[in-house]
Amino acid sequence: MEELIRADNLTKEFPVQKSFVDLLLAGYKRQVVHAVDNISFNIMKGEVLGLAGESGSGKSTTGRLLLRLIEPTSGTILYKGRDITSFSTREMERLRERIQIVFQDPNSSLNPRMSVGAAIAHPLQIHKIGNSREQKGMVLSLMEKVGLTPADFLYKKYPHQISGGQSQRVVLARALITNPEFIVADEPIAMADVSVRALILELMKKLKSEFNLTYLFITHDLATAKYLCDRIAVMYLGRIVEMGSRDELFLHPHHPYTKALLEAVPIPDPRQRRREEVVRGEIPSAIEPPPGCHFHPRCSHAISKCKSHRPPLREITPRHLSACILDG
Ligand code: SF4
Repeated sequence: MEELIRADNLTKEFPVQKSFVDLLLAGYKRQVVHAVDNISFNIMKGEVLGLAGESGSGKSTTGRLLLRLIEPTSGTILYKGRDITSFSTREMERLRERIQIVFQDPNSSLNPRMSVGAAIAHPLQIHKIGNSREQKGMVLSLMEKVGLTPADFLYKKYPHQISGGQSQRVVLARALITNPEFIVADEPIAMADVSVRALILELMKKLKSEFNLTYLFITHDLATAKYLCDRIAVMYLGRIVEMGSRDELFLHPHHPYTKALLEAVPIPDPRQRRREEVVRGEIPSAIEPPPGCHFHPRCSHAISKCKSHRPPLREITPRHLSACILDG
């Protein structure tokens, strides 16, 4: 399988905005949010890589970095072997036809004054693909494929006139209209009703094989990652703490944080007992993350070395990586 995307030592720090008085009180010490902390991974063509973790773990920032919607502080992003961090604005514009993003909340990512048809056709206009008659034909055909039917009727509707599930389909269609090969799906079902979630996931699976897509699927819910992903990377406070195939991760989780996340996945059988791995408290601030292993204040297995030593992400079995002092 061909490698589509590779991130090497990717880091993103956001400066904390402070007033002059706050800066004075802090002794002019500038603070930064360590959103993504030196992570490396790749995605093969046709693969679905899940990025899982709690809110604040750096998943969405990673997705935006891959598309250069925000600039990395350091590190490289290779797309088909070419370093896109050095691409010019014009080169990035051309590339954006092929790499797209689906945001979490369809309502806030759709312009309320733009009809469904106009919203889906918008990327075609930006990239100057086809004339208006051809664009309408492409939009109607794609609307059929994503289940926005009857397409002729829904084409003229506005976001407030369609359901939440239909809005999510519009957002998917808008991402697909330029025939991309890579899509970052940032919690695409988080805002959908429970009844709609399974349908959207099913649709994403169908579209993947129909359009030969590669996904980065961002989620806080390992149960949905299990349904859609080939491989899963678990993030905690900006770092990848475990990465492996879906089956390996679910059957043989290594990292205490992954085990705790798996404990949070609902079990449909009430007679089945849970293991005792529970994560304590809330994710700490990314402004001053705990030293050593970031997870140590919440980890029930922590030893004193965990407070000072950053465990590297290393292979524990073929293609299964974990970052815990207790591994090996
Ligand atoms: Fe827990 Fe220590 Fe492993 Fe971190 S390195 S996950 S604190 S045991």
